Amino acid sequence: MKVLKFGGTSMANAPSIRRVADIVESDDKAQFIVVSAPGKREVADVKVTDLLYSCYETRNRDGLCDAALEQVIRRFDEIVSGLGLTLDLTPEFNVIRDQINGGAGRDYASSRGEFLSGIVAAKLLGARFVDAGDVIRFDMDGNFDSETTNRLVGSRLAGLTGRVVIPGFYGKMPNGKVKTFSRGGSDITGAIIARGVNAEIYENWTDVDGFMTVDPRLQENPDIINMLTYKELRELSYMGANVLHPDSIFPVRKADIPINIRNTFNPSAPGTMIVPTKKYMSGDYTRDDRTITGIAGKTDFSAIYVEKSMMNSELGFARKLLQILERHNILLEHLPSGIDTMTVVIDRSDLCSESVAAVLREIKDELAPDNVEYVDGIALVAVVGHGMNRKKGTASRVFSALSAADVNIRMIDQGSSELNIIVGVETGDYKKAIRAIYREFRGGTKEKI
Ligand code: ASP
Repeated sequence: MKVLKFGGTSMANAPSIRRVADIVESDDKAQFIVVSAPGKREVADVKVTDLLYSCYETRNRDGLCDAALEQVIRRFDEIVSGLGLTLDLTPEFNVIRDQINGGAGRDYASSRGEFLSGIVAAKLLGARFVDAGDVIRFDMDGNFDSETTNRLVGSRLAGLTGRVVIPGFYGKMPNGKVKTFSRGGSDITGAIIARGVNAEIYENWTDVDGFMTVDPRLQENPDIINMLTYKELRELSYMGANVLHPDSIFPVRKADIPINIRNTFNPSAPGTMIVPTKKYMSGDYTRDDRTITGIAGKTDFSAIYVEKSMMNSELGFARKLLQILERHNILLEHLPSGIDTMTVVIDRSDLCSESVAAVLREIKDELAPDNVEYVDGIALVAVVGHGMNRKKGTASRVFSALSAADVNIRMIDQGSSELNIIVGVETGDYKKAIRAIYREFRGGTKEKI
């Protein structure tokens, strides 16, 4: 049995929802269906979730959300009539209006897109509707409560027969208040349901043919990765590749359930399989031979470069340096080091200029370095793949490609598992660096793997 999650573009209008129904109905194993709120119908459109955030804001500003809610009502009217359904959502909209006007809050308001989308999908598929609030739990601090949720999903859903539709994106706290995940969170709901019902696979239906080797905004027509492991996915999504919500990995990974990214608008494409790392390593899955699986990156990092002769023989040097960061609540992203140097790479958004000045001062006072430098505008590029573990010369190919493209490397970090090579470059060189690495490993001929 499978869990299928359909994203906002798949649920955007009547024709796309028809496609969803065709996909579900053509697969006997498609039992649990998780849906997003209607997303954009074209580039300039507004997602229903965003319309609902405006309802909440309008209510806070003017006392009532009624005018803003009209747009949401119109979107659903269009969907219901386009699908030819006999479904009157007026009672639901009356409750939603009263709740938002009565102060039900931002999360409640924004969750109603998935709630209504779920009702529509259940009606169209002749399926049972189960409210996410009955199975997805958050604690009173608003943190997702995975074990209570897993129990609830198991006891309320696992024994059911026939198709079941569950809205994505939200759940409830013990006091009954609706709480949402962060944006894009229906992916997480799908993964939670897959774990709770012990699905054989979690299909995540979206609007692209799969996970691309690199962001198509940086490199036109990148190839699709036919298979990647959870570990590779984690590395790539941490570095900004965002086909799936990064938190959706955890529930399915715990239960060793593979994810298949599929395209609602091209259902014959096999998409991308994301498989348990240990099963891949033990040969349960095979894929075409590639040295690197994907390339991802992020801009807006800063580096603090500390140099001191003989720092390697100074006991506690790294600890003292990291303590300074901790005192200023700064998260460490990378710590590449040389014999007499240590570089601390941090997310620029974590820093204000006062804390930079204070950190540099404290480093000088407490560590007496020969030199300390602070550099802004660093972009990190991660080259990821289990394939590099078995091949010599991958790093040299990365560096030669960068040097041929006239990109200066500011920092190098290779994880000990040989799953990634991370290079820091100047933000101005970011796109050039990604394209050069792509060309080296994936561009053109088949041999370039
Ligand atoms: N509708 C929500 C959003 O736009 C959640 C989702 O689609 O996954 O972020």
